[in-house]
Amino acid sequence: MSKIKIGIITCSTCTRELDCPVGGCLKDLYDRKGAFKEYGNQNIEISGINSCNGCPTLKGEESILPKIESLIHYGATHIHLSYCMTAVCPFLNKYVKVISAKYSEINLIQGTHEPHQSNEEFRCDIKEMLIKRRKTIIP
Ligand code: SF4
Ligand code: SF4
Repeated sequence: MSKIKIGIITCSTCTRELDCPVGGCLKDLYDRKGAFKEYGNQNIEISGINSCNGCPTLKGEESILPKIESLIHYGATHIHLSYCMTAVCPFLNKYVKVISAKYSEINLIQGTHEPHQSNEEFRCDIKEMLIKRRKTIIP
């Protein structure tokens, strides 16, 4: 059976600054929950995981494209923008626009694991951790 090859892009604030090891995304991928539910019993494989290139205020939203390109290079046909991106990122729609324009062949999916709280609560927790500096994103 052919495999669906999945790439994940995460928010670098969550993964690089707050040390999330992407475990929640991976758990729901293996359990076919959250945004991964749609794969059902299909055979899937992770092609790679990349964080965004940091907030693109000055760099521009095209700064996400090399991250996408590298996932495609390693075979990804389905690219998920992580739950944390969908919950906190003010640039999400701009990212979706540039990615879809350049890589129209890719299945771009918004979300990964199931939300464990409201987006607002998640944003507040992230803000608190960034201000406190910090232990880790793991509760
Ligand atoms: S969506 Fe959750 S588990 Fe995945 S990288 Fe973001 S904070 Fe970590
Ligand atoms: S808020 Fe958006 S642009 Fe900034 S680090 Fe997170 S995903 Fe990247």
